Amino acid sequence: MPPTTSLNSPMNTTSRDLKDVIDSVKAYIELDRASGINEFFVANDCRVPLKAPYNSNSLESLKDEISGCKRCGLHKTRHNIVLGAGNPKAELMFIGEAPGEDEDLQGLPFVGRAGQLLTKIIEAMGLKRSDVYIANILKCRPLNNRPPLPNEIKECEDILKKQINIIEPKIICTLGKFASQTLLRTETTISALRGHFKEYNGIKLMPTFHPAYLLRNPNDKRLVWSDMKKIMKELKI
Ligand code: URA
Repeated sequence: MPPTTSLNSPMNTTSRDLKDVIDSVKAYIELDRASGINEFFVANDCRVPLKAPYNSNSLESLKDEISGCKRCGLHKTRHNIVLGAGNPKAELMFIGEAPGEDEDLQGLPFVGRAGQLLTKIIEAMGLKRSDVYIANILKCRPLNNRPPLPNEIKECEDILKKQINIIEPKIICTLGKFASQTLLRTETTISALRGHFKEYNGIKLMPTFHPAYLLRNPNDKRLVWSDMKKIMKELKI
């Protein structure tokens, strides 16, 4: 029978020295981690997170801090963690869904077909990719581009929050339903969300369509352009 996650069971500390106790607690924690349990229970349902919060204060150190991350199952199939790319002090931050195959292989966000369209949009705004910062909700690729799972989002969210804290963008532009609904904690459709500034932790957030959607629905490019013009006006571009 696998060990339970409770530390309530009486331990005969007289018959074990302290090292044994520490070793056995460590073993419980490692077993829980391996089976995807991220918190354990001490007396009176007091939850103790097993994971220390990220404490980097630069994107470089955050990259180091998350290297080798195994917080969710995506580490098993990834080639690279795709943290993000661009200006670490960008006023404008784009946030997409998750790396695809090209991004996973290159370790950079939005470098495939959808990324090329995003680059064109950025350039049409009078900016370069190196002026803005580009990231995703998930930092590792879900195979076959399946939608991210709730536990993957939960495990990755701290990284994105840290990135946003470091970059301090004036405006976040969420690309597509998934990033928009995740950051805004809503199930409202992207068609209804796009084009209206919202707020994310005190930062203006503009939801718009994902470039991959635009590849399939080129007529909606004009809607995205009208969203970008609102961002440009706000940033005085
Ligand atoms: N789609 C995304 O959402 N992000 C990428 O990095 C690439 C494609």
